Amino acid sequence: MTTQSSPEPAPSGAPTEHPEITYVGCARCGTQIAGLDGRYACSGCGWVNEWTEGHRPLPTAGRAHA
Ligand SMILES: [Zn+2]
Repeated sequence: MTTQSSPEPAPSGAPTEHPEITYVGCARCGTQIAGLDGRYACSGCGWVNEWTEGHRPLPTAGRAHA
């Protein structure tokens, strides 16, 4: 038996958006930390900003038909 790996088809019509790496100073300890799309988590003190402060909403896993 041969198993062929088929590449995942790209969703048509949906533009591929890459998360953007951004930097900010931690609001608690001031450490420069990197985040994706405006979401940050400081590894030094554990400060995490609100996900709603992100540049765009979290990606949804799959699409559910209503
Ligand atoms: Zn911190």
